[in-house]
Amino acid sequence: MKCIICSNDADATGSHIVPASLIQNCVGKHYREESYSIDAKNVNIDLYFGRDNLKNTSTEIKKNHYKEDHILCQACEKNLADIESEFSINFLQKFREERFKANFIITNDQNGTETLTPKNLTKEKIYFYLYSIIFRYCMNCGRKRGQYFMEESDLENIRIFLNEYMYGDQAVGIEHLKEFNMVITFDKADSNGSFISSANQFKNPYIFYFCQPILLLFRGNLDTNAAKIFGEINGKRYEENLEEFNAEMNKIDINDSERAMKTYHMLLQKYRS
Ligand SMILES: [Zn+2]
Repeated sequence: MKCIICSNDADATGSHIVPASLIQNCVGKHYREESYSIDAKNVNIDLYFGRDNLKNTSTEIKKNHYKEDHILCQACEKNLADIESEFSINFLQKFREERFKANFIITNDQNGTETLTPKNLTKEKIYFYLYSIIFRYCMNCGRKRGQYFMEESDLENIRIFLNEYMYGDQAVGIEHLKEFNMVITFDKADSNGSFISSANQFKNPYIFYFCQPILLLFRGNLDTNAAKIFGEINGKRYEENLEEFNAEMNKIDINDSERAMKTYHMLLQKYRS
């Protein structure tokens, strides 16, 4: 097997598809996990308990849902592990804590949407982190179930970005993201998260739930897309639509795994009628 990013021999084992630090609120701490893998296509639910989870009464050794062997090479694995711990330290462990406020540039808009920009992480690093998760998630689902969620050309652009970011020219890598615009939503008040999935019926935006963050990945020009998404004639700027999207989504129960989708449909209805 070849590494999904750089095409060298995929000699790493136990690679995380979604970082443990990101999903521990959904599946439990590493080795104490309780996770359900739902394969909607084949109507198959697989339950996994980590080796130290007390509910694990089985001696059967099952595979962790978010870990894979022979998907990455050692070098890519190391690079991803480094960015994951950096993101965890500078963002995940701090953004909900009042005492770490100084680590962020915080702006608020009139709808109550707060934007946090970590001072110790560059935009490129954050993109590298998030796109690497999207890419691993899609490639892994694709290899296992034939469902890649994203168009092949979009996945290839992300792969080139990741590869250039690590081993080549970062500016060249960033060029390959120019078709995309990512909206990143974390719930600051609640760390419980939703679950880990994507929806294959959405191509623009692509929607990913990685427990804590909800990622909306828009392709093409933002203004055109926002107009497309929230009705061709609402005439509002993208930023206004986004504020409304976030404000409406926050009214829906955090445990509702469909909240982004429901918000999307609600706004679509509103501006179409
Ligand atoms: Zn590699």
